Amino acid sequence: MEHEEFGLAKRSPGGSVSEPGYLPGVSREQDPWYREGLRFECTRCGRCCRGAGNVWVNDDEISALSARLEICEEEFRDDYTRRAGRRGVSLKQKRNQDCVFWDAKAGCSVYEDRPRQCRTYPFWAGIVHSEDNWLAEGKACPGIGEGPLHLASAITEVAADDGIPAGRTRLRIEKKT
Ligand code: SF4
Ligand code: SF4
Repeated sequence: MEHEEFGLAKRSPGGSVSEPGYLPGVSREQDPWYREGLRFECTRCGRCCRGAGNVWVNDDEISALSARLEICEEEFRDDYTRRAGRRGVSLKQKRNQDCVFWDAKAGCSVYEDRPRQCRTYPFWAGIVHSEDNWLAEGKACPGIGEGPLHLASAITEVAADDGIPAGRTRLRIEKKT
């Protein structure tokens, strides 16, 4: 999943992050382990579009993707999605486990209408839940830990609406085992 640009952290003249995002006595959400922000910049390597895993899609995303492909939603569901778990719907995979919309030469063939989980990666709730998870995911995504610093407040906001059904976040590194 290639991902959209998030707001870059604004730095104070002294060079420190201008919004550290923590105060004594605040909740864990307000005082996350990534309080000083996290570095990430997508290299567009495409690794997160390939390999086993779910790409969750909701009704609105299915509607947008169907319109893009100029087919009805029923046809889209039949041809491009599969049931995953009890209630979830995921994009299909190709035989080699690439996402059905991954094109080796062009990248994501539905980029402007890609699902939310593709836009929010790697700031998924399950990944930013702990530093261990973040570092583990960094073994699969070369953009993690690199590039611009993203503010803690922005990360928390994205993670709270990461596009993944509740309880479904898994580290990609776990999916491959
Ligand atoms: S929809 Fe696009 S960005 Fe998302 S996993 Fe598939 S190829 Fe990657
Ligand atoms: S694995 Fe990371 S660096 Fe590579 S395309 Fe996905 S988000 Fe970008």
